[in-house]
Amino acid sequence: MTDRERNMELLEEAQSNGRLSHSYIFSGIENVEFAVKIAQKILCKREHTGCGSCSSCLKVLSNNHPDLMIVEPEGTSIKNEQVEAFQNFMVIKPFESEHKIVVFNGVHAMTTRAQNRLLKILEEPPAYAMMILMSKQAEMLLDTITSRCQTLSFHEDMSVENEVLNHAIDFVKSLEFNDINHIYSFSAYAKEDKARFSIFLRKVNEIFRDIMIFKETQNIQLISHENFTILDNRSQLSQLSGQFSHRRLITLIFAIEEVEAKLKSNMNFDLTIDQLLFKCLSTLN
Ligand SMILES: [Zn+2]
Repeated sequence: MTDRERNMELLEEAQSNGRLSHSYIFSGIENVEFAVKIAQKILCKREHTGCGSCSSCLKVLSNNHPDLMIVEPEGTSIKNEQVEAFQNFMVIKPFESEHKIVVFNGVHAMTTRAQNRLLKILEEPPAYAMMILMSKQAEMLLDTITSRCQTLSFHEDMSVENEVLNHAIDFVKSLEFNDINHIYSFSAYAKEDKARFSIFLRKVNEIFRDIMIFKETQNIQLISHENFTILDNRSQLSQLSGQFSHRRLITLIFAIEEVEAKLKSNMNFDLTIDQLLFKCLSTLN
């Protein structure tokens, strides 16, 4: 049984016993899709099964449930205004459920000021409040926050991440070599799994950024450790940085960020992927 399955069971049990805690830290995981899946079950109107077809599940699935809020870092941090919006959300009673659920992704990226704001709600949570704080660096949270939450540990299976990273580097290389057929072949891979695709996008974006940094600075120390193991030598990086012009890299990075935003706003998944691939093809030399 994986950590996800085990913790999911634990939460289901807590809910059926009416013992859900107001605040959880999910330590070792930053995965909004997973947290939303949990929220969907808690809010589901068919015995909390996460049926996928009741009015509540449908709203969750279309990012449109009035009692669910997702907070993610904007840029590098979760800003004070975002936590203020969360406070305003939490003081109003649920519209159609027993709970109001807020998911914080990458919660360690919250400024101390924002953490103190969050702390106020954690100290005196409304009866209906449920907060899920996800972080791969939970040790960076204030002790006063940690002590008010129940921590669930996730030791994520790195094989998925590595598998995606390999596909990401493969994708970047196919752009480097202007290999149109190979670029098209990513369409099927991307469409298979939405959660995996968002990791894929993040990795590709990181690699582009690393290539850009290397292009600008020639400083290998600035390359993220994880990518360095793949882009494992200077000649490979030099080669990549030579193949991608500054303008092309920026176009590609923007294209990926646009897709990430579209996916969050629930645009048609397959169509969004096709548009990304066309955009990539339009940058070919
Ligand atoms: Zn349902």
